[in-house]
Amino acid sequence: MKDNNISLLNYSFNYFFQYCIQKYQIQVISHHFSNHKIEGLTVVDELGTSFSYERDNLKVKQNFTLCHELGHFILKHDGNYFAESIENQENLLEREANIFSAVVLMPDIVLLSKIYYSCETFHQIQNSLGVSKQALFFRLLDFLREYYPGKDNEIKQAVETYIEGKNVSVFRLFHDIREQIIEEFNQFQPSLINQVKQRVRKVGFTTSLEYPYLLNQDNWKAIKEESINLKTWLIYNKGKSIAYVWDKEKFSDEEARKKAEIQLLLM
Ligand SMILES: [Zn+2]
Repeated sequence: MKDNNISLLNYSFNYFFQYCIQKYQIQVISHHFSNHKIEGLTVVDELGTSFSYERDNLKVKQNFTLCHELGHFILKHDGNYFAESIENQENLLEREANIFSAVVLMPDIVLLSKIYYSCETFHQIQNSLGVSKQALFFRLLDFLREYYPGKDNEIKQAVETYIEGKNVSVFRLFHDIREQIIEEFNQFQPSLINQVKQRVRKVGFTTSLEYPYLLNQDNWKAIKEESINLKTWLIYNKGKSIAYVWDKEKFSDEEARKKAEIQLLLM
């Protein structure tokens, strides 16, 4: 979310999912078995990795299945073949993949924002995140249990009344843990490359005065790999130097150089 400036209230698992699919060149296809016995499949072979999902399932189920398959992949579960059926969901790897899926579909900070700060209803959240009633129900239970161990009954009641449209109890539970959730979210900082990328996307140009690590030319490669539009260069004068990055669609080489020269003069 932070790396790509995705707003908390517009979050969708798809941002992360598509990012991973592209990055790891995973193929996503649909399949159909007449009895819906196989909800999802991961196959790793010499052709690469592919995920597939039952095309007759509801969209919310497909979303969950796809994130579950991504879980096997990202968590590096050992195996070249994972098939999801109703019978196998109890083993450890499957449970892990299910938790991964639930968190990617419904991250802590997104739940806090929607439930507590923006007072959305259970139904609204279900729709905007593309999850089933059951998935959101269990995710909320698991999530709150982490913060309130031993209060299972209270939590269950709060979530059940929340489904019915009354948010007072669930609100109170979130109220006391909101700072912890936000702090955890704030601990993550976007990578330097992503900070530079975001900055250049915004204003078209930045220098090592803002991001000193740009002076190390070993970092340039990673920046150029991020986008074909990004260019990097270094100028120096009287023992001082400035490295800079610019978007070639926004500034010509010369314009960028001039901007860097001015900054160098002012150093
Ligand atoms: Zn699985």
